[in-house]
Amino acid sequence: QAKDAGRSNYRVFTQEMLQRANNKLMIEQDIGAAIEEKQLSLSLQPIVSLPDGKVKGFEALIRWHHPERGLIMPGDFIPDIEDSEAIIQVGNYVLEEGGAILARLIEQGWEDLYLAVNLSAKHYMDPGLIPLVQRILSKYNIPPQSLLLEVTEESVIENVDLALSSMRSLKCLGVRIAIDDFGTGYSSLSYLKQLPFDVLKIDRCFTSGVLENSVDTHIVTTVIDLAHNLGRTVVAEGIETQEQCDFLAAARCELAQGYLFSKPIDERKAFRILNEIEGDGVWPVESLPQLA
Ligand code: C2E
Ligand code: MG
Ligand code: MG
Ligand code: MG
Repeated sequence: QAKDAGRSNYRVFTQEMLQRANNKLMIEQDIGAAIEEKQLSLSLQPIVSLPDGKVKGFEALIRWHHPERGLIMPGDFIPDIEDSEAIIQVGNYVLEEGGAILARLIEQGWEDLYLAVNLSAKHYMDPGLIPLVQRILSKYNIPPQSLLLEVTEESVIENVDLALSSMRSLKCLGVRIAIDDFGTGYSSLSYLKQLPFDVLKIDRCFTSGVLENSVDTHIVTTVIDLAHNLGRTVVAEGIETQEQCDFLAAARCELAQGYLFSKPIDERKAFRILNEIEGDGVWPVESLPQLA
């Protein structure tokens, strides 16, 4: 019987693997068509300064409106294509569309806001990346510092030597770089020292526990101080309550992003709110604490 059980476990395992492989293949094949048929879009989530709550920029987060499968969130397709060429196509789309969004922001008088886009570390090894960024900046006449390229700590550490030289070239263009999901990627301080980044984003897994868990409290305050001592700016991700926000402001974290202010929204809604808050630029708090 033990043998049988073992065998059926094995079968389940391979079936799951097969399904994942199929899914991966399907996504890789679909993505070209998805771009062509405009099934991809970017949602925007505001990033505000602390403690005043003024909007400083947005993060662009990809969405896939699949004709048969409906809305697909990035967590359900980005990891599957991260090591294939399709991730470059997605990144190129995100840069093109991100540039167009920045151009519309500038056109409407919001030239001081920045846009953060997410790129996979693999993209930093693509020789087409730097010419593309250069072309987009000049095509839309975008001040380079308005474009922030996010890369996760985990992926950049796996590819640090290769990513480093293109990061340096991007810095020469005046574009800014953020290390995303900081704290989840096992990077050593010697890597951190080498990477030419401007912004450090503290992952939600630390900020969410900042008031309940003293370990998280210490990690967050220490990371903020470390970043500041290196001359970098800090964004706290996943801020959901006013109390978290107050804590981070007191710890001198300068920027915050999270459901407290807004979930990712479509561009039209973002512009509607921008027009409403034109006077003081303070982004309205959307969802008050919903503690489970
Ligand atoms: P990320 O870059 O760390 O983005 C933040 C994620 O946290 C987003 O999920 C956002 O909706 C979510 N979030 C923001 N505030 C809160 C909050 O207060 N509470 C909670 N529970 N969640 C919050 P999303 O849009 O599903 O994206 C997931 C991840 O997918 C992103 O994490 C990023 O790593 C990746 N991703 C998104 N767009 C792209 C893209 O265009 N290219 C690449 N390569 N990756 C992308
Ligand atoms: Mg990000
Ligand atoms: Mg993140
Ligand atoms: Mg993330």
